[in-house]
Amino acid sequence: MTERRYRRIQEVLSKRQPDLSIMAEDVYKPHNLSAMLRTCDAVGIGEVYAINPTGGIPTYNETSGSAEKWIHLTVFKTLQEAHTLVKSRGMQIFAAHLSDEAVDYRDVDYTLPTCVLFGNEKRGVSNEAAELADQHIIIPMLGMVQSLNVSVATAVILFEAQRQRRDKGMYNAPRLGSELIKRQTFEWLYPKEASQLVRDEKAYPELNEEGLYKK
Ligand code: SAM
Repeated sequence: MTERRYRRIQEVLSKRQPDLSIMAEDVYKPHNLSAMLRTCDAVGIGEVYAINPTGGIPTYNETSGSAEKWIHLTVFKTLQEAHTLVKSRGMQIFAAHLSDEAVDYRDVDYTLPTCVLFGNEKRGVSNEAAELADQHIIIPMLGMVQSLNVSVATAVILFEAQRQRRDKGMYNAPRLGSELIKRQTFEWLYPKEASQLVRDEKAYPELNEEGLYKK
């Protein structure tokens, strides 16, 4: 059982894309954020940014597959803080935004370090965020309604990013460092023990081929 889970975790971490992420700007409906995280997990995103003026961690929707267990979510109070961090990580920012200057979401390069920004369910992307973005992208809408649900837009765009990265072989070899993979594996396989070791300021033990360690 442990060995199977260990192998699965290794497989998942070997596909993670440290230079692909999303930023959710004041997305306030928990089920939307949960669905966005679920999509992120599916395409290999492990780190997500959210801007929530209260600074609080949004409540999740229990029915959405609990992707939040596998995603590291950092919540910022302001757009500026989130923008500074993402830029310090060398990512271009695409705002999924229904503006006149937006280009088709299939015509941009997601194989470069990229963070895609999504806006609030009612107001969309703020003017400030739209200005800070490097590019606006749009999913063409050919029907009567003006926009998609934010989690649907996230899925459409991220699976295009996944396609481009797959075609470039970016899922063929691990892109996370080996130390990070070891650390994350231990935390996912042994969450309680990992928390205790962190509290005790002790290093995580090495795992053997079956995902076991000497206690
Ligand atoms: N009334 C809002 C507006 O004018 O932007 C609609 C917001 S929409 C429900 C929520 C978010 O989903 C948007 O801010 C955008 O990030 C994303 N989104 C929805 N449809 C989209 C589309 N066709 N192209 C790009 N992004 C879209």
